Amino acid sequence: MHHFKYKNGELYAEEIPLSELADKFGTPLYVYSRKTIERHFRTYLDAFRYIEHIVCFAVKSNPNPSILRLLAKMGAGADIVSGGELYLALKAGIPPEKIVYTGVGKTEEEIRFALKSGILMFNIESEEELREIDNIAKKMGKKARIGLRVNPEVDAKTHPYISTGLKKYKFGIPIENALELYIYAKKLKNVEITGIHSHIGSQITATEPFIQSLSNIIRLTDNLRRIGITIKYLDLGGGLGIKYKDEEPPLPSELSMELKNILMGQDVKIILEPGRSIIGNAGILLGKVLYTKKAHKTFIITDTGMNDLIRPTLYQAYHQILPVKRSKLSKTIFGDLVGPICESGDYIAKERVLPAMKRGDYFVVMSAGAYGFSMSSNYNARPRVAEVLVDGKKVSLIRKRETYADLTRNCRI
Ligand SMILES: *Cc1c(COP(=O)(O)O)cnc(C)c1O
Repeated sequence: MHHFKYKNGELYAEEIPLSELADKFGTPLYVYSRKTIERHFRTYLDAFRYIEHIVCFAVKSNPNPSILRLLAKMGAGADIVSGGELYLALKAGIPPEKIVYTGVGKTEEEIRFALKSGILMFNIESEEELREIDNIAKKMGKKARIGLRVNPEVDAKTHPYISTGLKKYKFGIPIENALELYIYAKKLKNVEITGIHSHIGSQITATEPFIQSLSNIIRLTDNLRRIGITIKYLDLGGGLGIKYKDEEPPLPSELSMELKNILMGQDVKIILEPGRSIIGNAGILLGKVLYTKKAHKTFIITDTGMNDLIRPTLYQAYHQILPVKRSKLSKTIFGDLVGPICESGDYIAKERVLPAMKRGDYFVVMSAGAYGFSMSSNYNARPRVAEVLVDGKKVSLIRKRETYADLTRNCRI
């Protein structure tokens, strides 16, 4: 559920017509709905009330500081994958004791920063990383809280680029090697075994992969307990899907009910790392039609493209396209909605039924709140776009549009 709805043929963000935002802030523009973010976050808190938990928002899905601040105020922790994300999370006021750090390539500098900050847990992705963290912690006179990111060998049945829970991917430690590595970790003086982590992929639209993964992990926890290793935190990762088109992903409450049987009776706290399911449908990308062109097919050429939203190009992802103004007589066309970038792969929608639009019309790319701005770039020397947060009738500019001067800011000529 989100708050981008038509009223009298005009698409609104909460109580503001999107055409007003386009006129005021220009396009392309990312627009977020505060009510939607809050509702999605609360849904998680409510769903897992039966067990002690921390909802660690996956910063990589949307690192805007105002959005992080909003979530921090509601009690969110953070799932980070870099020193930069740690910096942003701390700046936004997320307490370090609610921050978990995942990623296959943590540098010494990043590990030091995280140790100094006192984060809750490092999710370890290799034996070598484990030794390195122990070494660095020793040099700093600290103890690093750790968990192993295990690969539960569960197929998340999502796009291979966003699937992570199988041996063939670079992520995690095969579950059959985890016991041995925990025993090794226990001997290290500067690490403290705190948890187990697994994250099997993204945009998962069924509960089975989560249940399978959790069952495999609980089995490991039992085996660890038998040899005197206790796990305080079960980190179940993120990955719950959203509706882009006709998917029917489980709600957090449905997932939590299905996990309840397995979790009850376990003396653990759980960590959840949702990104997309909090922010995906809470944001849209607003663009403007520049030209239409009829070649062997119809192209709607717009002012937004793959540098602003790369998901269609990278994952063949579907995003619904809606006109900002529509009438009963609105026509459709069949064709591509493309950007201005000099790449054939630069499209937002390909070979689709699209609203017929003409030069100057505004349109919306739905479900663009997650992995939208965060994956954007300056390709073709395009300044990165602005972001606004709508709250009822109010709107705040939460990131200014970049200027041409920003393109040379760090350069020496
Ligand atoms: C990307 C990622 C997430 C968030 O995934 P979503 O699909 O956005 O919920 C959570 N945890 C880890 C380790 C990740 O890499």
